Amino acid sequence: SVAAKQSLKIGLIPADGIGKEVIPAAKAAIIALGSDIPKPEFIDLVAGWETFTRTGVALPDETVEILRNECDCALFGSVSSPSRKVVGYSSPIVALRKKLDLYANIRPVVSVAPEVDQKPAVDLIVVRENTECLYVKEETLIDTPNGKEARASRLITERASRRIGQMAFQLANARPRKHLTIIHKSNVLSVTDGLFRETVRGIKSLPANDGKFNGVTIAEQLVDSAVYRLFREPEIFDVMVAPNLYGDIISDAAAALVGSLGLIPSINAGDNFVMGEPVHGSAPDIEGKGIANPLASIRSAALMLRHLGYTEGADRLDLAVNQVIREGRFLTPDLKGTSTTEEVLQAVLSKI
Ligand code: ATP
Ligand code: MG
Repeated sequence: SVAAKQSLKIGLIPADGIGKEVIPAAKAAIIALGSDIPKPEFIDLVAGWETFTRTGVALPDETVEILRNECDCALFGSVSSPSRKVVGYSSPIVALRKKLDLYANIRPVVSVAPEVDQKPAVDLIVVRENTECLYVKEETLIDTPNGKEARASRLITERASRRIGQMAFQLANARPRKHLTIIHKSNVLSVTDGLFRETVRGIKSLPANDGKFNGVTIAEQLVDSAVYRLFREPEIFDVMVAPNLYGDIISDAAAALVGSLGLIPSINAGDNFVMGEPVHGSAPDIEGKGIANPLASIRSAALMLRHLGYTEGADRLDLAVNQVIREGRFLTPDLKGTSTTEEVLQAVLSKI
């Protein structure tokens, strides 16, 4: 936690598309918190497809160095992906997660007005391991007498499972229900998923944790049944923790429960750095029209601040966003409203 620091340095990487429209809104919301955040300082940084077409590099070294050496945290917008594979281009967000060792992807999914939406009451957090599993991308392709044969290998380590598990327990412990569900498929993959499951389970009784997670209840779900139950009875979930691939799928599935992508925030967190990032992409279909929903980015800022220990500031941002959604007077077209990004931002600022 850096909550005791005298100033908070925040890197801003709007990158491409609507990122350039929604990240400034998140910045304005943080500034509006006033003394809840001691002296926020913003540092503008570049990355993304446009940066690549201009300079030949999608993630300049300078951006990484400044994040590492000068910033406490960052907000990342979205990147456009080229429609075909381009030599030399790879996603800067994937590279940033690696370079800053942001091993956890944390995505809360909350329905604010279930009675209005006629949707189930969802209030859960997906905690996804972000560095290993099938995403180590160790693939081989060989020719055999019977045709081609492709293989991928999957890495699960005790170290990565323990640190993601620790973060999941911490999150669960800070919530009213204190309930953690471990997602796996150890009936089929007993070695890899078995290690993940046992390691996460073991965290509760680690001597180093000194009983602080005694109040957290643990459940388990096989990933297939977890998806089924997520759609049937999402209210049974509080915090879900999963290896990379299952977490990827579950977090998108959960997002579908609350309507617009324009509402869902995330953070990429490590031991030394946290980066807020709205879940949506660059939304080329609405880019430049001034109608992108800024709420996912404002919520990402809240999540980032919460992770750093600025609980009051985070609460005020979340409350302001929720009031604007409930009142329904200022909403962007993705939520069936007619307001612009700027009008929604102003509504949030007035609530703050
Ligand atoms: P990318 O390749 O960058 O992910 P995409 O075409 O997949 O781009 P997304 O950004 O993933 O687009 O968005 C999917 C759909 O959701 C689009 O129709 C987009 O307009 C809509 N959408 C996403 N984010 C927002 C937002 N913040 N406000 C309004 N609509 C959004
Ligand atoms: Mg997309």
